Amino acid sequence: MQSLTLPRPDDWHLHLRDGAMLRAVLPETARHFARAIVMPNLVPPVVTLDDARAYRRRIMDALPAGMEFEPLMTLYLTEGTDPADVAAAAASGLVKAVKFYPAGATTNSHAGVRDLRKVMPVLEKMAEIGLPLCTHGEVTDPEVDIFDREAVFIDTVLAPLRRRMPELRVVMEHITTEEGVAYAAEGGDTLAATITTHHLIINRNHILAGGIKPHYYCLPVAKREKHRLALCKAATSGSPRYFLGTDSAPHVDALKEQACGCAGCFTATNTLSLLAHVFDAAGALDRLAGFVSLHGPAFYRLPVNTATIRLEKRDDPCVWPEKIACDSGPVTVFNPGFPVHWHVEC
Ligand SMILES: [Zn+2]
Repeated sequence: MQSLTLPRPDDWHLHLRDGAMLRAVLPETARHFARAIVMPNLVPPVVTLDDARAYRRRIMDALPAGMEFEPLMTLYLTEGTDPADVAAAAASGLVKAVKFYPAGATTNSHAGVRDLRKVMPVLEKMAEIGLPLCTHGEVTDPEVDIFDREAVFIDTVLAPLRRRMPELRVVMEHITTEEGVAYAAEGGDTLAATITTHHLIINRNHILAGGIKPHYYCLPVAKREKHRLALCKAATSGSPRYFLGTDSAPHVDALKEQACGCAGCFTATNTLSLLAHVFDAAGALDRLAGFVSLHGPAFYRLPVNTATIRLEKRDDPCVWPEKIACDSGPVTVFNPGFPVHWHVEC
C-alpha cells in the first residue's frame, strides 16, 4: 500500500498550553487533526466550566485564519471540584471529560487529588451522566520505583475504583506498560486507553543509553522494550479499546535541557507520518484509521469526522523543522531517529 485516505483524525490527549506557546503549537495540531481533548493543567488549572469557557475562547482566538479545529475541553479534578459545576459543564456540550492527576504526578499537577475519597461525589455524578474520567495513571509515592508507578496505580487505585464504581467511564491516558495494555483489554465498554506516538517508538534506552536525551524524557517515562512491543501490538490490533492520544507536550528547549529538565515530547508536527510508519512496519496500515479516526469518537460518543486526510509513501524521506519557534524560545520537534517516508498531503 503506497497511499492511504483516512477520516480526519483526532488527538484524544493534547497539551496546548497558553499565551505565546499556544499560538506557536496550535497550528501544528490543527494542520492534521480535526479535534483534540485539551488538557487542563495550566497555571492556574482549568477547574470550572467558566475556566474551560475562557480557555476555549483563547484557543479559538489563537487559531490562524483559514484553519479549522475543535477543542474538546476538560476540567482539572481537584478536591474542591463541585459536582453540580461538572454536570453543568457536561450539559453545556463544551466539556467532554474530567482529568484526574494524582497530586505531583507530572507537569503542573500539584493541585491534583491526594485523597480519592474527597472526590467521590464528583465521580458518582460523572458515572450517572456518562462523562469520562481521564486518568494520569501513576502513583506518586516516592517509595515506588518510577518504572513501576503505572502498574502500581492500576492495582491500588484504578482497579479498586472501578470495582466500586463499575459504571464510571474511564480513559487510561498514555499507557506505557504491558500491564496497562492487559488491564484495558479486560475492562469492557466503560474502559479505554490512549497510547502516545512516542511510546510506540522509544524505550528507556533511547533516553538513557549513550548519554541522557532530554527530548525523549516524558511522563509516564518510557519503559523496557517488551512494553513498547506490547503497546505496538495493542495499537495495531484493531481493538476499539485503544486509540491515539499524542500527549504532545511542548516545553521550550531551555526548560528541557537543564539540570532538572521538564517532562514531555512534542509530537504534534509529525505524529501522523510516524504512526503510518509504525503501522506499516507492523503490516497493519488497514487498522490505522481505527486508531486515529474511529475508536476515539466511538468511546467519546461523538461523530466520526467527515473530512479526510491522505498519506502517501514516497522514496524521499519526510523533512520536518527541527524546532518550532515560540516567543519564549524554540521547541524541539520529536525526532524518531530513523527516516520516515509517509507524507501527509494537506
Ligand atoms: Zn499529558
